[in-house]
Amino acid sequence: MANPSLADYLAGLKSKAPQQIMEINSEVPRDYVITALALELERQKQYPVIKASIAGYELPLVTNVFSDLRRIADILACPEAEISRRWAEIEKTPIKPVKVATGPVQETVYRNEELDVNRLPIMQHFATDAGRYITAGIVVAKDPDTGVRNLSYHRMQLKGPRKFGISLHSRQHLYSYFERAERKGRDLEIAVIVGAHPAVLLAASAKPGIEVDEYDIAGSILGEPLELVPGLTVDVEYPASAEIVLEGRILAGVREAEGPFGEFSGYSTSRSTENVFEVTAMCCRRNPLYLSIVPGSAADHLYLARVAREAAILQRLKEKIPYIHAISYPKSGVNFHCYLSLSQAPEGVARHALTLLFGLDHYVKLAVIVDDDIDVNDEEAVWWAVATRVRGDRDIIIIPRLFTIPLDPSSEGGTVAKVGIDATMTAAFKKEMVICKEREQDLSLAKEIIDKNLKS
Ligand code: MN
Repeated sequence: MANPSLADYLAGLKSKAPQQIMEINSEVPRDYVITALALELERQKQYPVIKASIAGYELPLVTNVFSDLRRIADILACPEAEISRRWAEIEKTPIKPVKVATGPVQETVYRNEELDVNRLPIMQHFATDAGRYITAGIVVAKDPDTGVRNLSYHRMQLKGPRKFGISLHSRQHLYSYFERAERKGRDLEIAVIVGAHPAVLLAASAKPGIEVDEYDIAGSILGEPLELVPGLTVDVEYPASAEIVLEGRILAGVREAEGPFGEFSGYSTSRSTENVFEVTAMCCRRNPLYLSIVPGSAADHLYLARVAREAAILQRLKEKIPYIHAISYPKSGVNFHCYLSLSQAPEGVARHALTLLFGLDHYVKLAVIVDDDIDVNDEEAVWWAVATRVRGDRDIIIIPRLFTIPLDPSSEGGTVAKVGIDATMTAAFKKEMVICKEREQDLSLAKEIIDKNLKS
C-alpha cells in the first residue's frame, strides 16, 4: 500500500471540508499575487488552502496549507488544544521508513540538458526579494560521520536551470553536516522534496536530537512506515509519494551572494550562509503539484515552524519543572515571543522557567510567564496579567548578550538581550486581590441567549 500523497490529502479535505480550499480557476500571474492573496485572506481572518493555475505553467500551485491550526490538528488527528500532547506522543512512537525500488516520484526524470528547473512555477514573492524562491523545499541529507538522515527547510533562490542559492542560517543539523563534509573537501549530497503529504512537511519542521531521523516522525504521523526510494544521482532516499524532488549537492568551498528574502520576522534580509546547490536530477510524478509556503510573517510559515517547537519546548521544560502548565508562541511574536503558564509553583520557579526557556530555545527573546488562570493562547489575557500583576523593578529580568538567531533584525554580532516578565501572582497579591468574573450559571444562560438571538 502506497503512502498518501499531497493530492490524496487535498481530495480528502475537499470531500470533508470544501470551504477549506480556494480553487482558483482563472490563471494567476506567477509573481507576487499569490503572496498578496494569502496575506489579504489572513487579514480577513480566512485561511483556506490555495490551489491555482499559474499563467504559462502546466503545474498547478498549492499553498497556505498550514495557515490554520485547526487544519494542522486534523492532520495530526487530534483536537486543536491537544496538539502539543499529541506531538509528544508522535515523537515517542517513531515508525521507521521502508525502502522500495521505485515509486510515483520517479515517473518522470530529467537529467543533463533536459533538466531545467524553470519548468516549475517558482515564484517571486515580494518585490524586495532578490528573485524567485522555492520556499517549501525540504532538504534531505545524511550525516557525513554517522549516516543519520536529516530533514530541514532552507530558502532556495533560483539562479539557473540547474542552480540555486541556499542558506543554512538556522545553523542546525544540516549546517553541521555541511561544515564537516566541507572540512574534508567534499560536497554534501542532498535531495530536496518540493511537495508531499502534509505529514512529511510537519515531520521536517521537528527539531529532535541530531541522532533522530525525521522520516521516523513522518511515519508516526501517518501511522505507517514512509516508503522511500533511492536517489538516482545521490546517495539520499526520499518519499516515493512525493510530488517533485531535486537531487544534487551543496558545493564545498563555494559561496555566492544570496538574498535578500522576506523572512518569518517580516523583514527582507540578506543574512545568509550563501551556499550553492547544484541540481543533478529532477524527479516528479506524472502530474505533479508544485507546493509553496507563504513566506514573510504569514501564518502558513509561522505555524508550520510553531507546532513542533511548542511541543518540544513544553516537553523539555516539564522534564525539569513539573509546575509548567501550558506554552504558546503567539503569531504576533514571530517565534521570538513565548508565553508560559505555571500551576501552584513555589517562589523562584517562574524565574527558573524563564532562564531554562532561554537556554532551550535561542529564538525566544521575550517570554511572559503567568499563572494557570490565564489562557496562554489568549494574548489579551496574557497582557492583562502583565498590566495588573507586574512591577517592572521586581518582575522583569534582562540577560544581555545571549546567543540568538541572526535573522532577528535587532541582533548584533549574533547576540541579543533576552527579557523575561514574571507576571505570576505573589502570595500577598493572591491573598489581597479579588478578580471580578461572571458566575458559571449566568455565563451558560448568556450563551443560550446568544444562540437564540444571534445565530444566523
Ligand atoms: Mn535533525
